[in-house]
Amino acid sequence: MDIFDVRERLIGDYREFTSSFVDPRDERIRKQVWGRTASGYQWPAPYVSLNPNFASGGTVDRLVTDGLLHPDIERIFRLKEHPGDPGSKPLRLHQHQRDAITTARGGHSYVLTTGTGSGKSLAYIVPIVDRVLRAKADGTYRPGVKAIIVYPMNALANSQLRELEKFLCWGFPDNKPPVTFDRYTGQENADARRRILADPPDILLTNYVMLELVLTRRRERDRLIRAARELWFLVLDELHTYRGRQGADVAFLVRRTKDACAAPRLQCVGTSATMTTEGDPVRQRAVVAEVATRLFGQPVVPEHVIGESLRRATTGGAGEDMLAEQVRRWHRTGQIPSLDEFRRNPLAHWVESAFGVEPEKGSGRLVRKRIPPTVPNAADDLAQLTGEPTEVCQAAIQGVLQAGAQVIDPETGRPVFAFRLHQFLSKGDNVYVTIESPASRHITSRYQTVSPDSSETERKILVPLAFCRECGQEYLSVRRSVNGFEARQDSDTGEDGGYLYLSDDQPWPESLEIAVQDGRLPYSWTVLTGDGATVPAQDKLKHLPEVVHVDVSGAEVPPGKGVTAAWVTTPFRFCLRCRVSYERSRGKDFAQLAKLSAEGRSSALSVIGASVVRALRAARSLDKPARKLLAFVDNRQDASLQAGHFNDFVQVVQLRGALYRAAEKEPDGLTHERVAQRVTEALGLELREFARRPEVRYGKEEIWRALREVVNYRLYLDLERGWRVTMPNLEQTGLLRVGYRYLHEVAADQEIWDRSHHLLRDDNPEHRYEIAATLLDELRRNLAIDVRCLTEEGFDEIRRLSVQHLAEPWALGVRERATVAGIAFPKPSGKGRPRAYLHLSGRGALGKYLKRQYDKPGQSCSVTDAQDIIRDLLAVLTEAGLVIEAVPGDGDDLIGGYRLRSDALLWQPGDGEVGAEDRVRKQLSGEAGARVNTFFRDLYRDTSHLLAGLQAKEHTAQVTPAEREQREAEFREGDLPLLFCSPTMELGVDINALNAVALRNVPPTPANYAQ
Ligand SMILES: [Zn+2]
Repeated sequence: MDIFDVRERLIGDYREFTSSFVDPRDERIRKQVWGRTASGYQWPAPYVSLNPNFASGGTVDRLVTDGLLHPDIERIFRLKEHPGDPGSKPLRLHQHQRDAITTARGGHSYVLTTGTGSGKSLAYIVPIVDRVLRAKADGTYRPGVKAIIVYPMNALANSQLRELEKFLCWGFPDNKPPVTFDRYTGQENADARRRILADPPDILLTNYVMLELVLTRRRERDRLIRAARELWFLVLDELHTYRGRQGADVAFLVRRTKDACAAPRLQCVGTSATMTTEGDPVRQRAVVAEVATRLFGQPVVPEHVIGESLRRATTGGAGEDMLAEQVRRWHRTGQIPSLDEFRRNPLAHWVESAFGVEPEKGSGRLVRKRIPPTVPNAADDLAQLTGEPTEVCQAAIQGVLQAGAQVIDPETGRPVFAFRLHQFLSKGDNVYVTIESPASRHITSRYQTVSPDSSETERKILVPLAFCRECGQEYLSVRRSVNGFEARQDSDTGEDGGYLYLSDDQPWPESLEIAVQDGRLPYSWTVLTGDGATVPAQDKLKHLPEVVHVDVSGAEVPPGKGVTAAWVTTPFRFCLRCRVSYERSRGKDFAQLAKLSAEGRSSALSVIGASVVRALRAARSLDKPARKLLAFVDNRQDASLQAGHFNDFVQVVQLRGALYRAAEKEPDGLTHERVAQRVTEALGLELREFARRPEVRYGKEEIWRALREVVNYRLYLDLERGWRVTMPNLEQTGLLRVGYRYLHEVAADQEIWDRSHHLLRDDNPEHRYEIAATLLDELRRNLAIDVRCLTEEGFDEIRRLSVQHLAEPWALGVRERATVAGIAFPKPSGKGRPRAYLHLSGRGALGKYLKRQYDKPGQSCSVTDAQDIIRDLLAVLTEAGLVIEAVPGDGDDLIGGYRLRSDALLWQPGDGEVGAEDRVRKQLSGEAGARVNTFFRDLYRDTSHLLAGLQAKEHTAQVTPAEREQREAEFREGDLPLLFCSPTMELGVDINALNAVALRNVPPTPANYAQ
């Protein structure tokens, strides 16, 4: 795997995604935005850090030979592969583990402050096991709890439990441990609790909340605390997590435990990531000793604060001339040398110094590099040193890092160089402008309140921009008060918010009459009067744009001064340039106006997650357990939302991609009978990816049927208009054209139109086709479709099948409710009608569309005509078999309700160039078709099939312990490729091979990040 390639791909996907939503219309703004994007400020070069190599402390066997450990330790601490394996190789210790064992043997309390992956737990487990074995050997052993190990969270206790099983059970007769251990954290079932209380183990793993309960609850106190009399060890793992008030609580807990156990000679042990970076090493040790002393209530001296001892992986050798030669060579060959060659290589040595270790100031001891460089930074240094071109140096450095990751040190079984890329990704910057003519205004991406060309007398305020998603027109995001206008930030909510529209070439007309006359209002904003005149709709009057005059400071000024602008309030209702309007106001402007800084963060993380996992899966050199991503979010609600969002995202992308691929194979169009079948095939899923019980021998056809039914249901739901704002659908990305069977023939069949309204009867077939298709689109996009899956009974059946046969994420959600088809009535809406009723009125959007089509010189089309046309169209389409009467007319008017027949639909592939139009609602200025979001188009078309089987789950305190353990196990093995967790996961849970970690926010402290 080339991690630098993975990084390139990730950046490519992220760039596409973030720039896909906004395409500024204004040339100067576009240059500004694209220039900023091209500079890569959202994805700076990653920092690279090299994992350190620890100095060796010899094998466990050696310590036994030296008389430091009991002989049986040799049999316990070995590398074991499976439960029957007694272990072929002895365990190798690091120097700091050996130091800890020696200190423990001296009877001292101690603290281990070493980094992640340094094997901290062995530094107390070995001494504890050793002490029990020696007591057993010299006859002083009495059954009972000898050591209590306190973890700040259960996941840590769980992974420790697995470790202990490996060492103490595997390879022993009947897997019976020579030293007993158990976990008592509150996750155990009643049987396990009874067993532990009846026969307490030598080593007890718990958490500090449970320990508190054990001390106070009578039954547990009687059993466990009594068994822990004269306790030998009390271990606090991850000491640095106890801060502030919690630190004080834990300090008291330790004291009460000591009292209750009457353990005067107790050894207290702590482990910690680096607790302080202040001062020199001597000072640092003193600080740690002081904190530990306070927590434990007994002295820990600075000499017993044990830090890590590092050693170099390379030995280097020759001078700088050799370095230049190496840079050139490495650049050319991309070789993988032998271990020995690599160690002696001067360039490898230089790279280790650049990214891995440095001598400590003062002591000269090797320590981890405090501030790791980026590859370009290091390449600059290397170029200076060698006189070779920077690009050559960069390629050589990457080559060395990659090679070092493939050269295995047989002594440790690990690569010589294990390195990490730290990549930061940020959202886009807003763009700010002054309130001046678009041709001359100041444009910047730097957040500031006034423009730098302001003067003492003239204060030019800067205002953030939002953009029309359809045409890219910019709007100044402001707030209006008695003092005029001022900049409004993303986070501002309030009643006085709105937008200013400024345009040199298409200013908003000064008078409403002209605006109406010039057709500047969306069609849905006007109504026809009895005499056929167009006027603004009464209910829209208060939302109409207001012409204002504003100066550079934002103050409102008399006409003739400042610039002329149009003011509209939030929520944004329609675009003053292209007239895109939104019928349903969702209360937020997010749907209509895009801000460069505010494109859905959840979507961004889903895109990143999918990109990384995809890249890891493509890497052949990786084993399955290594192809996964661990992602941290701020809290458990976010983890749950984000996992849901990701699964939804992946499923929608897969479905849409599969529909496109299926349609592409049948250019004449997929019909209702075939669409679900073909799309299910195109999904390319395997039984284990969607079946609840993939192992069943019989009835597999039934499982496939369940999937087909769910797919069918989702396909129909996806036909609805704009229900996923941040994920444009197949029609919007131009990849799907929905046609209607036999509609061309019907439009050309003069006989069938003979009894219709004269405008229809006398129309030509092509135009009749367009009119009829527009009406059918209207039914379809409102889900007025006659199909079984959109009925209560149909949905219940799908749900039954889903519950029986399907697993997440393909199963229907537990809270998912049936979506029932709408019904279209060719008449104005009455009061109290159900929401699913669609009213096609002559005065409404469809009526106005018809008027646009038919009202011409020499031919008129009144509201009544439009209504009649709609009614007659439905009658003809019913006769033709494209539509059915779903409910008969009732009462006075005898006008029934209609649905589009699902077997009339033809699902056809599109070329992805122009999005499908909504002829009734939108009308774009000019001839340009609906803009296509190329990121999503390419995702559906080209990469969606690679997302098969991708799934995310959450890992938080909200999930039941059993479920959590299950997820940890799935994630460890790579069966679950993506885990979203709250920050509680950060503390060293055993997750096996991990190559990628994502953090949604910058963590609160450096220590959190280091974990
Ligand atoms: Zn627009």
